[in-house]
Amino acid sequence: MSGKKILLVEDEQAIRDMVGFALSRAGFELIEAEDARQAQERLEEGLPDLVLLDWMLPGMSGIDLARRMKRDDYTREVPIIMLTARGEEDDRIGGLEAGADDYVTKPFSPRELVARIKAVLRRVQPESEEEVLVIDRLSLDPGSHRVSVDNQSLEMGPTEFRLLHFFMSHPERVYSRSQLLDSVWGRNAYVEERTVDVHILRLRKVLSKFGYDRFVQTVRGAGYRFSAEA
Ligand code: CA
Repeated sequence: MSGKKILLVEDEQAIRDMVGFALSRAGFELIEAEDARQAQERLEEGLPDLVLLDWMLPGMSGIDLARRMKRDDYTREVPIIMLTARGEEDDRIGGLEAGADDYVTKPFSPRELVARIKAVLRRVQPESEEEVLVIDRLSLDPGSHRVSVDNQSLEMGPTEFRLLHFFMSHPERVYSRSQLLDSVWGRNAYVEERTVDVHILRLRKVLSKFGYDRFVQTVRGAGYRFSAEA
């Protein structure tokens, strides 16, 4: 669980401090936002593993932000836990209908919050995150950050690794350069689409040692596809 990024959207400094302390002790990385607008900026910089979202925020409410996130393809899959002072059943249902995955009522203990976060993360990311991906003799282990062919390691840069990880978890599908940018670099990465080509080239070079550069296929006019088929 450690190293997971949690975006906390909460206007009260005291709660941010308390939650921040509890989360860092539990090994999470905390990103903070004071309101929905700031939260959207943070989301554009890259997706967290989970969002803790206060219901009552100045400006756009937490519930509206949750709805917006669930309507947007980019943020749809990010799990949300709503934080709220209200405990009424109607509100609970409202939060879940808006797309929240769970609901924690204030005041909550840091320990309870951490347990709920872990439960949601387990539910939405069943082992697959750490699963070793194997296509043909090419194997990628997200846990140890290792790529190998028949136990021979392939050295590559972090971007090539993320790109290969994305490809191997989404084989046989065509992705445009901008989709790859969104998924691998984060939507608000200030990079040009040509950057994708540069890293594709590097990835192919590394894979060519075993002839696997053929897996990274250019689909004319559309983008790239990772496929073990010719
Ligand atoms: Ca609040």
